[in-house]
Parts: sequence; structure tokens; C-alpha cells
Amino acid sequence: MENVLILGTGCAGLTAAIYTARANLRPLVLEGVQPGGQLTTTSEVENFPGFPEGIDGFELMDRLRQQAARFGTRFQSDFIERVDLSGPEKILHSATQAYKTRALIIATGASPRMLGVPGEREMFGGKGVTTCATCDGAFYRGMEVAVAGGGDSACEEALFLTRFCAKIYLIHRRGELRASDIMAKRTLDNPKIQPVWNTHIERVLSDDHGHVRGLALKNNQTGAGSELAVKGLFVAIGHHPNSQAFVGALPLDEHGYFLPEAGSAVRTKMPGVFVAGDCADHVYRQAVTAAGLGCQAAIEAERWLEEGGY
Ligand code: NAP
Repeated sequence: MENVLILGTGCAGLTAAIYTARANLRPLVLEGVQPGGQLTTTSEVENFPGFPEGIDGFELMDRLRQQAARFGTRFQSDFIERVDLSGPEKILHSATQAYKTRALIIATGASPRMLGVPGEREMFGGKGVTTCATCDGAFYRGMEVAVAGGGDSACEEALFLTRFCAKIYLIHRRGELRASDIMAKRTLDNPKIQPVWNTHIERVLSDDHGHVRGLALKNNQTGAGSELAVKGLFVAIGHHPNSQAFVGALPLDEHGYFLPEAGSAVRTKMPGVFVAGDCADHVYRQAVTAAGLGCQAAIEAERWLEEGGY
């Protein structure tokens, strides 16, 4: 029986681990399919307080992990598929193991959304479709590529790709960016980035080897179709929360984000079950807000355990 089980090793999960470990609760943290969470796929983090020069996303997460480990956090790699939260002991099942815990902190984050067009899945990974410029940008040195989306993520991906690529087409379904003003300006001012407005990607086209050779596009104002020759497609159209294992067990909103109890950002309707970070926050979604929510969840879990006499 664990005192505290934490799901997720992004900013929320690791901050919750630091706090509960320092409270001598010896938390067990389960690392899912993306250890370190979304920041490990970001290049420079410029807005995390305390790093005036910025810090590499992977390095920041590595430091948080070391900080959590220093106070006795235990880590295990596993993926929870279903849960029973009805009793005083919360039971969580992976494919191979069951975990029992008194308090549970869910910090499972969010995953990249995909376009869902033909060719996207088939060429995902090493064949030209990706969701991570930081991970894969260097493979496209000197080439022309496309980024799908119009938010901060799409701008960030496009700007990062200017380090390697000859040209980046930013394909957006509307006529203006959703991104913050500073990111939008940087993006549109960059001579390597060419916006393609009011355009849907209809299909990812493959060459004879099954690699991306281009995109079939449709202008949604004129209805005109066209082909764009690119070697890579970076999909950056937002995220969906990782809450599938909790459907039916905890309240979720219509997009699958956890819904905390009224008056709290982290308490759920199940006593001893707390949520933190991007899996429960579709408004701010920042590293620092996720860390703050992880801290709140940890303090709530500590108090809940103390009140229960554990
Ligand atoms: P987002 O703000 O939700 O933007 C998603 C973009 O993808 C929108 O432009 C949207 O188009 C488009 N889109 C969504 N579904 C689509 C589809 N099926 N087909 C085509 N286009 C589609 O997501 P985000 O850019 O990942 O940003 C999420 C949050 O993280 C934001 O709060 C953002 O500020 C923050 N963030 C900040 C930074 C930074 O500060 N450096 C970096 C990354 C993210 P519409 O505009 O038409 O809806």
C-alpha cells in the first residue's frame, strides 16, 4: 500500500513528487509513455521563472527529476489502463500489475492532437510526419517542410525549424494566427517562414519509398485544390488530455479534461484523489502553472493523509 501514488513525470507530477517526498511520504511516481512530459519536446524554455537565459526543456525536466529523487521519490515505468477509486484504497491496474494507494495525484498531461487525414499515421515517425521539431528538425536540414497549425506551438515549431530548413510553410485553416502577439510577430517576420492561410491539409502524399513527398491542400475560401512539395510535416494543432483510464471514474469535461471540485483547482469528487497540470487545465497550460498545480495537489494530499491519521 502506497501513501501517495503520482501518475506522470511532467512539471506537475515531479513538483508533486518534490513536495510529498520532502514531507516524508516516499511517493511512488509512475512514468508513462513520455517520461518528462511535453517539455522534453521543447527547445528553449524562456518563461520559467529563475532562468534569465532560458533553459533547455529536457534539462529542466532532468533537474526536476533529480530534485524529486534527492528526497526519496521512487520511480517506476508503467502505464495505467483502468482504475477503481471507489474504496478507501485506490486500485490502479496496468497491463501487468495492480497498485494500491491511499492518496492519488493524477498528472498525466496532454498529448499532441493529430489531423486525422490519410497518410498522416502511415508516415508518422521516421517517414516525414512528426509532432516534435526539437526531436526531428535536424533530419530536415536544407529541406522545405510544412507546419500545421496557427497557435503558439505551431509558431514555436516553425521558428525552431528555421535553424535547419530552407523554407517552412505554416499552413493554417484561418486567415490569422491564434498565437500570442510576440510569437506571431516573430514568426511572420521570419523570411524563411511562409504562411499559407485559409487552407486545410487534405492528405499527406508519399513517394515510392513511403516517405513524405508533399501535401494535398484545399483553400477553404475558394475551394481550390493544390499540391505542395515538402519533405516533412510537423503537426502542431494542440493537445488532448490523457484521461482515458479515468472515464466513468472521475468527472471529465466534454474534451476529456478532469473537472476538479468547485472551489479547488486540484481536489476531485473522490476523497484522496487529486489532479494537477495539463490533464486538468486547458486554459493556462504553462510549465509554471503545471508546477504550481502539482504543489497544490501535493499539499492537499499531505493534509488529507494527515486528517485520515496515516
Ligand atoms: P492552440 O492554442 O489550441 O492552437 C491550436 C492551433 O491548431 C489553432 O490555430 C487551431 O486552429 C489549429 N487546429 C486545431 N485543430 C485543427 C485541425 N483539426 N486542423 C487544422 N488546424 C487545427 O494549441 P497550442 O498552440 O498547442 O497552444 C496551447 C497552449 O500552450 C496555449 O495556451 C499557448 O499559448 C501555450 N503555448 C505557449 C508557448 C510559448 O509561450 N512559448 C508555446 C507553446 C504553447 P484555430 O486557430 O482555427 O482554432
